[in-house]
Formats: sequence, structure tokens, C-alpha cells
Amino acid sequence: MSKNDRQDYLRLLPSVERVLQEKILQESLAEFPRHLAADAVRDLLARKRMLILNAVAEELQGLKFSSAGLAKEALIAIVEQTLPHLRPVINATGVILHTNLGRSPLAPAAVQALKEIGESFSNLELSLKTGRRSSRYEHIESLLCYLTGAEAALVVNNNAGAVFLSLNSLAAGREVVVSRGELVEVGGSFRISEVMASSGARLIEVGATNKCYLKDYRRAVNGQTALLLKVHTSNYRIMGFTAAVPARLLVKLAAEYNIPCMEDLGSGVLVDLSRFGLPREPMVQESIGAGVDLVTFSGDKLLGGPQAGIIAGKKKYLDRIRENQLLRALRVDKFTLAALEATLRLYCDEAKAMRQIPVLRMLTISRDELLKRAERLSRLLAEQLAGCCQVTISHEHARVGGGALPLTAIPSMQVCLEPLLQNAGLLAAKLRRADPPVIVRVHKNKLLLDLRSVMERQDEMLVKAVLRALDAGGSPEEAGMEQ
Ligand SMILES: *Cc1c(COP(=O)(O)O)cnc(C)c1O
Repeated sequence: MSKNDRQDYLRLLPSVERVLQEKILQESLAEFPRHLAADAVRDLLARKRMLILNAVAEELQGLKFSSAGLAKEALIAIVEQTLPHLRPVINATGVILHTNLGRSPLAPAAVQALKEIGESFSNLELSLKTGRRSSRYEHIESLLCYLTGAEAALVVNNNAGAVFLSLNSLAAGREVVVSRGELVEVGGSFRISEVMASSGARLIEVGATNKCYLKDYRRAVNGQTALLLKVHTSNYRIMGFTAAVPARLLVKLAAEYNIPCMEDLGSGVLVDLSRFGLPREPMVQESIGAGVDLVTFSGDKLLGGPQAGIIAGKKKYLDRIRENQLLRALRVDKFTLAALEATLRLYCDEAKAMRQIPVLRMLTISRDELLKRAERLSRLLAEQLAGCCQVTISHEHARVGGGALPLTAIPSMQVCLEPLLQNAGLLAAKLRRADPPVIVRVHKNKLLLDLRSVMERQDEMLVKAVLRALDAGGSPEEAGMEQ
């Protein structure tokens, strides 16, 4: 194709001014400043110009532009730009704790606490009794001690921080003994071995990958040993011919040498999940009860609170951790403390915790309840999507995710959308751009909307978002470019 032909197509593009004059953009100027609209139109026209310059002959055949179409496309870009970048999404993946989706949603009481503390001053570091300066860490220490049975507790930024700070405070320059089978990596960036190295402690691996005995630990302990560490293999299991040393025996060994025994529980739960038909996940109270000197766990895994790392255990060790200057670098803010306190208070009444903490509710909601919701939603969707998708109900399993209960597949229920004409991956992409965005699983050219990870109050929103996204009649890219 000659250069001249391309020039002809470029001439089809209207001017920035011409597009800005379109009614739809003129009306939007009430909401958006003019320079934003002008920038959006300029960017859009530049993209179209590039498209023409890079297109092959067939792609250019019959290419037309309308300024109304371009204005519509520019408006979509403006609206997208002004939306917050971090937004609420509907998690229809069936993975309850999804690190990419922000792990646990908060209970209403925690959200209320965030709001109240956020919009006001607070007694973050002021004792209301004495009027003197106090510590931010005091607000929830006694609550944590009450719930876990520990003598003392401290909250930091996250569990990785809790492990790092504990090791740095108690074992820098000395040795820490860990079983080879417990050297976990979590979520790509947290490896026990590397956290240990950066804390300044020397890792002494003992046992084999699948088997480790008390005698292995005993042989490794010497005058240089600062701590025995047990790590919950939260995101994998070693199966078959295995042996691990229970915490209570490690505690005894550590006591013989007058050194602490620490356990990184990863998720850490405060309720016995086996009572709800789920596999047992080690409870914080059990580790403390077994005499473990320091237990660390996350606030936003199965606990269902905000991102935080909790260190609970013996006072004499927590006092040393509190003195570490690095605590300042890992300290929690008032929002975390507010949301965590409100979440922990729910645990004082277990039935309340099970009802009100979204993660626990999602884990334990019955199949009957899910089926009822799936039937209702599929009916609503089927009516509206006739001719576009076949709507059915499927019974795939959901997952806990977030490095907790790795092997647990929980029976679940999905509304299943099978597109009749389009590709399922494309539809999933449209749903990600819906308002609110809906994140789904795609399986064999079907979209699975798993209701276990969707909050009941979001059911209506889910239907509306799906309908808007699938019914939209062409994606934004197509508008304004007529072939
Ligand atoms: C998840 C996990 C961590 C890291 O916790 P964060 O709160 O994500 O920092 C550390 N150890 C174990 C065993 C874990 O499962």
C-alpha cells in the first residue's frame, strides 16, 4: 500500500476540537474539567493514528470513523481514568482467601471501627486514665491474651514481619534449628530461609524432607543455638512416609537448653474448624497450650481481619522483641489496630464470629443455602441472557486459598455461563471491566461464578454487573471504529 493511501485514511480522523464539540462530551464537561476531556480525545486520536500507520491493507479496507463514536470512546476512557485504581471487586473465583484479591474482607464491625477511627482523632498513644503517653500496642494485647491464652502479644505489619522481627530480636548472629520439611515459601516472596538470612540468624536445617525426629533437633543444638523454630507447612503437605516432631516435644527440648521454641502458624485460627466439617487447622490456643514460647500468625488469613502479623507468647521474649528498634519500621497503623480489635472482639462470642466474619461464613455456609442462591441467580440471568449464554448450575469445588488448608476442596455451587457465540475468555475479560469488576473462573469455555466466595449481599450486584457487562453491545474498543 502506498504512503498516500495511508495519508487518506489519516485524513478520515476528525480534529480534537470536532470530537470535543460532540454533545456527549459537552455534557460531560459539567463533571470533568475540559483539559481532561481534551487530553483523552488527543490520546484516543493518537492511538487511532498509530493503528492506521501500523495496519496491513486488509485491516484498513472500508475503515471509517465517526466523531460521535470517538467521543463515546473518549468518554469511557475519561470515566475509567477517574475511577479509583484500587476498587472493590466481586470474588466469584471460589477461592476464599485470594492474596491477589486482598485476602479477607472485613466484618461489618471492623469496617465501622475503621470509619470511626479514620474520621476522628483517637487515643492511639494516649492513656485516657492517666493522660500520659501510652503505647499503641496496648490496645489489643489483653484481648489477644484472653483469646489465645498467651502471657503477652504484639501486632506488627504482617506475619512475615512478625517472623523477621522475632528472629532478629532473639537470634541474630546465632543459630536457629528448623526441620528440612518445613522450609516453606509462601506467595513467591516469603521464604523461611531468606527471612532467616535477612534477620541475621543462621539457619540450621535438620532431618530429611519427609521425616524429622526429636533426635535430629537434639543433635543440632549447641551453645550457639538461639531458638528452635517450627513452621506450619501452610500451603503444602508432605504425605506418605512422614514424621514431624510435635510442638510439645520441641518445647521440652528448648526448655532443657533454656532457649525459646517458636512456631510460625501462618494462618492461625482461633476456632476449631473440624467442628464444621473442615480439616483441622492448628489453633493458636493449642500452640500456646503446648507451651510454645512464641507463636506468629497472620491477621488476614483464616482469622478474617486486616493485614497484620501477630506475635503471642511468653512475656520475657515479647519484652525483648518490643525493645528492637526495627519494631518501628514494622509498626501497625491505627486502622489496622481498629479493624483487628473489632474482629477479635467478635471471637469473644464464637457463634457471632462464625456469623459475622465473612471468611468464616464463606467457609461454613451450607450447600443448601448455596444451591438456593444459585437457583435464584441462574433464573434471573437465564431470562436476560437467552440467545447469548446458556445458564446452568454446576457443582465444582471451591478452595480456601491464601496459603491455608492447601488440600481442602470444599463442595460448592456455581452459576455456569456458557457463551453461545463468544469466547469464554473474552467474556471473563469483559466481566473484569464491569462495575463492580467480577472475577470468575474459566473452565472449558464456560464461566463459573462460584457463590461460596461471593457475599450474599452482593448477589444482586453480581447479576447487575454481569448483565451490564454482557449486554453492553460491543466493547469500548469497538465503539467509534466502524469497519
Ligand atoms: C502466609 C504465611 C506467612 C506470611 O504471612 P503474611 O501475613 O502474608 O506476611 C508466613 N509463614 C507462613 C507459614 C504462612 O503461611
